[in-house]
Amino acid sequence: MSFFSSVALAPDDPILGLTDAWLADPRSPKVNLGVGVYYDADGRQVLPESVMRAEATLTARRRARSYIPIDGLPDYDSATQRLVFGEDCAAAAEGRVVTAQTLGGTGALRVGADFLKATLPFAKVAISQPSWPNHQVLFRAAGFEIGNYPYYHADSHGVDFDAMLAALLAMDAGTVVLLHACCHNPTGADLSTAQWREVAGTVRDRGLLPFVDMAYQGFDRGIAEDAQGIAILLEAGVENLLVANSCSKSFSLYGERVGALSLVCASADEARRVRSQVKQTIRANYSNPPTHGAALVATILGDPDLRAQWEEEVGQMRGRIKAMRNGLVARLAALGHPEFAFINRQAGMFTYSGLSPAQVQRLRDEFAIYAVSSGRICVSALNEANLDYVADAIARVAG
Ligand code: PMP
Repeated sequence: MSFFSSVALAPDDPILGLTDAWLADPRSPKVNLGVGVYYDADGRQVLPESVMRAEATLTARRRARSYIPIDGLPDYDSATQRLVFGEDCAAAAEGRVVTAQTLGGTGALRVGADFLKATLPFAKVAISQPSWPNHQVLFRAAGFEIGNYPYYHADSHGVDFDAMLAALLAMDAGTVVLLHACCHNPTGADLSTAQWREVAGTVRDRGLLPFVDMAYQGFDRGIAEDAQGIAILLEAGVENLLVANSCSKSFSLYGERVGALSLVCASADEARRVRSQVKQTIRANYSNPPTHGAALVATILGDPDLRAQWEEEVGQMRGRIKAMRNGLVARLAALGHPEFAFINRQAGMFTYSGLSPAQVQRLRDEFAIYAVSSGRICVSALNEANLDYVADAIARVAG
């Protein structure tokens, strides 16, 4: 009799499972618009030139692979902190910001969630409706009770700001509010600067604790611009703030698992104590993080020439995604569907197309085009070779 005989089969990950189905599909053409990965104009995943150059520099050095500190490579942590908070952040200058290297953005969210559960065991967590599905899964796994706040307005395809603000005003003090810094996944609908200011004032006045998830820095407007929400929260006088950032998309280092958790504290002394607890959390999970990806990012950010090249490359990715949005909107308009113009107003790698689960199923059955059943489409999977085909199929299923 096995100890594991009562173990139930867990469902496949809905997004990663889509890629498996697409790979197994014998039809041609076929298009995978499901997964959130950047593809170039030829539909390939490529390593940026800046990362390749950093790789060559590291390879040339004979680097022993010793353990690194529990909270990561110091050069990586400080460079990442400046990327997230800007070059002249008062809290950082005052030694009030703790930044720890993590296993991607997911690792940052989980270490942050574990730290919060240990520190504020009775806090609730509020997540935008909808959000990246793993937010829910991960905070629940950390032991939190999860609530949602309204976020997306299906008719306008933008943020339902009045409803969001009303929900923030009604939350218990001490609630952890998960906010997307930019390129909201899955909707592509972001807060404007004025809306960030209102959110920041409300979060401060209601005594809420913001936890900002920044997985797509540089994919909407630029490195500093996409982090504006974090700067606005601090300017508003929010005392504590957590940020989970990811280098998966911006450096194309998906599988290297590079991210960081930053926590803004009220004083340098508080920061010392918080860092010690964050290290305990990491130690109890995976002891210390891996070396390679963070060394690449530290090399790029620490060299003006490599950094300029990297920013240029992020700009190219951003530009190509916007061009694909434009191309899709123009083709759909030419096919009699001007109502998809909103796709140009959405930001980042995804668009929430408004297609129903039944329409998404038709795309798959009739055209071998795979998308998430919510209607989320990965715009970076579009290119000149498949744009006409995809636009035509969407126009057909849209009726
Ligand atoms: N947050 C959001 C909103 C994401 O979309 C993702 C990646 N899909 C992550 C966090 C996690 O990023 P990583 O792959 O670096 O763990």
